[in-house]
Amino acid sequence: MSTLTNRKPRLLTGDTPTGRLHLGHWVGSIENRVRMQDDYDCYFLIANIQAFTTRMDRPGEVHQNVMEVMLDYLAAGIDPERSTIFIQSEIPAIAELTIFFSMLVPYARVMRNPTIKDEIRDKGLGDTYPFGFMMYPISQAADILSFCADIVPVGEDQIPHLELTREVARRFNQLYCGVDSHAKDEDYIKLGGVFPIPEIMLGRTKRLVGIGPPNAEGNLVKMSKSLNNTIFLGDDPDTIKKKVMAMYTDPKRLKATDKGTVENNPLWIFHETFNSDKVWVAEATERYRAGTIGDVECKRKLIDVLVELIEPMRQRRLQYEQDLHYVKTLLKDGTSKANVTAQETLMAAKEKMHQRYF
Ligand code: ATP
Ligand code: MG
Repeated sequence: MSTLTNRKPRLLTGDTPTGRLHLGHWVGSIENRVRMQDDYDCYFLIANIQAFTTRMDRPGEVHQNVMEVMLDYLAAGIDPERSTIFIQSEIPAIAELTIFFSMLVPYARVMRNPTIKDEIRDKGLGDTYPFGFMMYPISQAADILSFCADIVPVGEDQIPHLELTREVARRFNQLYCGVDSHAKDEDYIKLGGVFPIPEIMLGRTKRLVGIGPPNAEGNLVKMSKSLNNTIFLGDDPDTIKKKVMAMYTDPKRLKATDKGTVENNPLWIFHETFNSDKVWVAEATERYRAGTIGDVECKRKLIDVLVELIEPMRQRRLQYEQDLHYVKTLLKDGTSKANVTAQETLMAAKEKMHQRYF
């Protein structure tokens, strides 16, 4: 927590505009963001530079997706009156801090990031991914630290990146602000540091699986924009129905009277995650195991649950889509506000680094 008592603690997180937001984003991070808007000074970043790590050949698509993510934010209940939404590449302080921070992280440390390795495998990036792809966790550290964030609500895949961010913050404060290397994380600001050591906040589901089958190693993969295994927050009831009806379940169960397995079965993971009727879930789980309930009945129930969650968001999205000019104004205003904050941090950091010349 920040030691500045006259301000709310600051929260920062974001999304890459590689597509539209999905249920994984909702349970991993967005429902927490919506809930925390009153108690935290919230900043939400649309990470378009990060999108270039895998979409450098599709700039028009990234541009379009910035608007899609913005619409999804508004639809999900992020309120621009209370929270600041902004575009990463419009904040020059982030780029500048990324370069300085890259000097604070050993090369081998960058190469050892397990999430990066998973992404290379799951997104099939082979060995042609750019140098900038390896750099993005450092850029993410700059995103977070430019705003002196105290807390970062994210999904489980972000844990290694957050750990790196915390290391960068500690190292900077030790090297340039004279903070003792034995200091407790919560004392860094009190001891003269520029950057608080940010805390991670995981969602109630840390890693929601996708609706598709397991990967070659037999593991269910996470729901991800890049993997075509999503239910989007903007999907209409018909699309949700089609996706749920086609979703992967227990492959060994051919008819309703076969005994089914609920473990590692997306149908049941989704019921556990989204269905608030816990009595139904408990009973139907037992019946599924015993072979006395069909997949179709369980899927129909899930469709109802998901439509109830998503439809109000989709309706709000349709409203905002009517006035894209207004939506763009909100984005511009948020970005202006974010620039002031990030610039202040950059100046404080450069002061400590003896790199303010004029
Ligand atoms: P991409 O496939 O382009 O990497 P993504 O679907 O992983 O996209 P990101 O923009 O990389 O989405 O992630 C934004 C935030 O949403 C992060 O905090 C991430 O941890 C969280 N998140 C994304 N997918 C899931 C998921 N399936 N379960 C829980 N959290 C998720
Ligand atoms: Mg991702």
